[in-house]
Amino acid sequence: MQSYDAILIGAGHNALVCAAYLLKAGYSVLLLEKNSIPGGAATTEELLPEEAPGFKFNPCAIDHLFIHLGSVVQELELEKYGLEYLFCDQVVFCPHPDGKYFFAHRSVEKTCAEIARYSPRDAQKYGEFIDFWQRVIGMLTPTFNAPPKSIVDMAGNYDMSKIKDLFSLMGSADETLDFIRTMFTSPLDVINEYFDSEFLKAPLARLAAELSTPPSQKNMAVGSIMMAMRHNPGMARPKGGTGALTQALVRCVQDLGGEIRTEQQVKQVLIDDGKVVGVKLANAQEYRSTMVVSSLDAQRLFLQLVDERDVDAADSQLRERVTRRITNHNEAILKIDCALSELPRFESHNHQDQYWIGSVLIADSVAQVELAHTDPNIGRIPIEDPSMYVVIPSMRDPSLAPEGKHTLWIEYFVPYQIAGAEGTGLNGTGWTEELKNQISDRVLDKLADYTPNLKSSIIARHIESPPELERRIGVSKGNYYHLDMTFDQMMFFRPLPELANYKTPIEGLFLTGAGTHPGGSISGLPGRNCARIILQTQHPLTQALSDTGDKVKSVAKSLFRRS
Ligand SMILES: Cc1cc2nc3c(=O)[nH]c(=O)nc-3n(C[C@H](O)[C@H](O)[C@H](O)COP(=O)(O)OP(=O)(O)OC[C@H]3O[C@@H](n4cnc5c(N)ncnc54)[C@H](O)[C@@H]3O)c2cc1C
Repeated sequence: MQSYDAILIGAGHNALVCAAYLLKAGYSVLLLEKNSIPGGAATTEELLPEEAPGFKFNPCAIDHLFIHLGSVVQELELEKYGLEYLFCDQVVFCPHPDGKYFFAHRSVEKTCAEIARYSPRDAQKYGEFIDFWQRVIGMLTPTFNAPPKSIVDMAGNYDMSKIKDLFSLMGSADETLDFIRTMFTSPLDVINEYFDSEFLKAPLARLAAELSTPPSQKNMAVGSIMMAMRHNPGMARPKGGTGALTQALVRCVQDLGGEIRTEQQVKQVLIDDGKVVGVKLANAQEYRSTMVVSSLDAQRLFLQLVDERDVDAADSQLRERVTRRITNHNEAILKIDCALSELPRFESHNHQDQYWIGSVLIADSVAQVELAHTDPNIGRIPIEDPSMYVVIPSMRDPSLAPEGKHTLWIEYFVPYQIAGAEGTGLNGTGWTEELKNQISDRVLDKLADYTPNLKSSIIARHIESPPELERRIGVSKGNYYHLDMTFDQMMFFRPLPELANYKTPIEGLFLTGAGTHPGGSISGLPGRNCARIILQTQHPLTQALSDTGDKVKSVAKSLFRRS
């Protein structure tokens, strides 16, 4: 039987990142992936090989923001392994029903000039809004780049500019209290405080709600960073699609001597006397290791992959807490990908091809965006007036489609479990082929209200409902962040305080992936932070010395940059 220093369950981008750091530290590593290709929610695939050959689609993630707040790309030298990020100079376009539109560039100044055409006051406030949230990002970035309970690690990440950001927000006692008060408010409270115009408020609400809660959700003001990040560090996509990030990570892992085996579904984590000893696959094959890292979230790990007697022996409360205290709401994504013969044109909004470089939002009003999130949570499909997030990935990267043609990516929020349809459709969720096609027709009709040539340009389409996503990559209830990204499940609360530092009560069993800090999205940071904890646990002295060297270099660099 083969044995490894570490076995990782799943080969999504976070597991690959974690594996790469362990390999760099000299570990022998095996990744076991249930699907035929690695990547999980970070792949690029020819989804329609017969109807639309040569069109490459991103079935899940498209816009990469959080990864640019960390150093995974540089530390793992992913450019050497073929990764090239294409940054977007135009980042958001949102047409408004009255003919106005929000067109955001990477440059804040250019964006303010666009807003000023309709509202000089809102343009000025936009500059202030972005400046505030940029400083919040500066303050938070060191926390994203460290295990959540490692205060020393976090503190070490604060260079001069981030300390400046921190003090600009929390200089005096009153400023600190006011800052905390802001963080307790909702994205909508903040947007209303700054702005008057609906054409601007609706897209900002839609982006803030990308953390998967309605814009009115108290304590989620932090969602406002989703717009601020599009200015800095910027929004980018790997050349060749999101899967090109995965491919670069695969090359890196293999170059460092790691093994990735696909079509290997892990069925059980093997435990002996409270310690991990390996894993067993669905086909009964076993692999041995005294360390197993799960990139599946805590609910899947402890409720499906570990024998309940082993969980109970380690912590008698854990199964109950994982089942009932971790929240996994009913909001999920209906994903629509189309092959297009031509670019959709915004006929009533002074069409410019550049609108399609960044993300296009159909967000007519704050109320529509609010319903886009509240309806799914009570099992309703917000179909009367669909809001959506749309991208034409082939616009920034023409290699994704045959010459002159385009790919279309649509994310539309729907319930996982449809109310009143319990026990029918796929997994009893109510989702059927017929329903997903009907809903997609309506979503495309809505987009066609803005781009009349859309419908006639569709060559073929691929639709994935929430239970289909669940079946494909395993995410429970189709949750695109593994677990909800609400305030109570972030940082040292993710997924639960006792599991938040990537360790579990079972010796040798670690957690990574989107269900751990800093959460879902393309960042690689759960993978990097988890590897740090493993190395700190197993080699405290070596890791401390290496960290000290890194910190000295980083502080010197930031001082040098200032002078
Ligand atoms: C439709 C959609 C759109 C998104 N859009 C964006 C976006 O634009 N930008 C962004 O930043 N983020 C986006 N996200 C979120 C982001 O893609 C994910 O948070 C991120 O990719 C999660 O990575 P991960 O490695 O933690 O987990 P995953 O990608 O889920 O990887 C886990 C892996 O484990 C495998 N697996 C599952 N069970 C087993 C098992 N029993 N044995 C072996 N292998 C197993 C799965 O097949 C998968 O490959 C989107 C997500 C979705 C679903």
